[in-house]
Amino acid sequence: MNLKTDLKALSKKELESFIKEQGLPAFRARQLRHWIYERRAESIDEITEFSKDLREGLSKKAYISTLKLLSRQISADGTEKFLFGLEDGESIESVLIPDKDRLTLCISSQVGCAMKCRFCLTAQLRLRRNLRAHEIVDQVICGGRLIHPRSITNIVFMGMGEPLANFYEAVEALWRMTELMKISKRRITLSTAGIAPKILELAEKAPRVNLAISLNATTDEVRSRLMPINKKYPLRSLLDACRRFPLEPRRRITFEYVMLQGLNDTQDDARRLIRILKGIPSKVNLIPFNPYPGSEYRRPSDEEIERFQKIVLGGNVTALIRKSKGQDILAACGQLKAGYG
Ligand code: SAH
Repeated sequence: MNLKTDLKALSKKELESFIKEQGLPAFRARQLRHWIYERRAESIDEITEFSKDLREGLSKKAYISTLKLLSRQISADGTEKFLFGLEDGESIESVLIPDKDRLTLCISSQVGCAMKCRFCLTAQLRLRRNLRAHEIVDQVICGGRLIHPRSITNIVFMGMGEPLANFYEAVEALWRMTELMKISKRRITLSTAGIAPKILELAEKAPRVNLAISLNATTDEVRSRLMPINKKYPLRSLLDACRRFPLEPRRRITFEYVMLQGLNDTQDDARRLIRILKGIPSKVNLIPFNPYPGSEYRRPSDEEIERFQKIVLGGNVTALIRKSKGQDILAACGQLKAGYG
């Protein structure tokens, strides 16, 4: 047991009271937040703005935690997967995806996931625990350090877990990224399986980052079969929340659509997709299913996917086919398992 206080884990208020308890002036809390999140210090000793005495004094009571890199795999296509260890021995994965002039880091919000989506490998882990805000953010800090001198340009909450099922910590992580680390809101995307009421709460409580919805089907019957969360929040309530989601000018909601052969890939589906997205500024990402050992689904052929895309485009809905990356190291969408099981 580490009896020292982890400064990175403290909220603004908690850090302020910790500093007060130490008999230090309030501005030290501000400096600490700056050094931990903006300067990305890994230890109190790196805080050169503090005198040696102050650093030594603080180090007796406190420390700055960091994720532990357990393994790093590089795919033939340049995608990288990081396995990070947490302080309690749990682990999570983050994936770095290079694409033209972008370098996107895909981060996790929970250890495992409780959503039970039928096509996703992470679901098999069940939920082990929620991540704390600093553990979510630290994937960006550590990821950034590991790939130096390159830098991360975009962040997506599309790794392990359902961010809106870990609402408080995910929102706090978004604040730390935008306010403390000064990452642009437009470069962050939060993706959800569709916890409808939390979508509107997100608009109220979090910085206005991009929103992505894992739609994956066009009827309640199919969607409930694939994604049990749909039984609680059926398409009507999900799409209603999307319609009411306050978007900034020229912004759109991304709809992810995993393509599963014979299940959601028919021409009727494509036409229904256009219909149900009416009135929502949207773009669709078609993701051919990524198989994993033991998976029961298949991806449609390239021609079938292109035909689907054409119909959607014909309805004046933007639709991109997302060529999945990192499949050879199980780093693509739905393939994260963090070495468990
Ligand atoms: N829980 C959030 C964040 C995870 S995002 C959410 O559901 O949005 C992970 C994305 O990968 C989701 O859009 C999901 O639909 C997709 N996905 C899951 N398993 C997949 C698989 N085997 N192949 C392709 N995409 C998959």
